Amino acid sequence: MTSFPAQARRVRDDGLVPNRRLHALRECTLHCAPYGFRATWHHLVVTARIPQRLEDDPDALVRAVQELEHTRAVLLPVAYAYAARRRREKAAGSRTAATPAPWNSWGWCRVAYCPDPEHHPTAPLGQVVARVLDGWAAGVDADRQCLACGTERHRPGRACPICGVHTGGPATVRHTPSAEERWKRIWRREGMPAAAGMPNHD
Ligand SMILES: [Zn+2]
Repeated sequence: MTSFPAQARRVRDDGLVPNRRLHALRECTLHCAPYGFRATWHHLVVTARIPQRLEDDPDALVRAVQELEHTRAVLLPVAYAYAARRRREKAAGSRTAATPAPWNSWGWCRVAYCPDPEHHPTAPLGQVVARVLDGWAAGVDADRQCLACGTERHRPGRACPICGVHTGGPATVRHTPSAEERWKRIWRREGMPAAAGMPNHD
C-alpha cells in the first residue's frame, strides 16, 4: 500500500481511467477512515455523489479525496502530538499513557467508528473528527454523551441512535449476513443516479 499523498495524486490524474482513480480513492480511504472503511466509503459516495458510471462525473472522485485531505489535516497533528507525548512519557519511565486514547490502538483512522455503513454523521468528516477529538481532550465521558453529536447516551453498549458513532470502536462490530449484502450494494454504488440527472445540492 503506498502513501496517501501518492494515491491522492492518482485520484486527481485525469490521464488514468476512472476505475484506476476509484481504486486510488479506495487506498486513500484505507489510510483515512474516521468512521471505519465501510461507513467512510458510504459517506464519500453519497456526499461527493460518486455515480455508478464513473465516466458520468469523474470529478466526484476529486471531491471525495478533497474531503479526505481536509479530514487528514485535522487528524494528523493530533496523532503526531499524541505519539510525541507518549514518547516523552515512556522516556520519563511511565509505561501507561496519562490520558489513554482508545482509538490509538484501533488505528487513528477510526476515531468516530460507525458499525452500520449507512448510518453515520452527515456533517463534513473533518468537522466530526474535530468534534470527537475536542470532546475527548475536554474529558467528556463518552459512555454518557456522544462525542460526535452531543446526544446523551442511555445505552453505552450501542452505537449513538442519532449519528451512528460507536465510541466502543471496531471491537463492537458483528457483521451479519444482511450487513454484508448491504455493503456489496454500497460498493457497487447501486441506486446512485447518473450525474447528469442529479439535482445540485451545493
Ligand atoms: Zn451521536
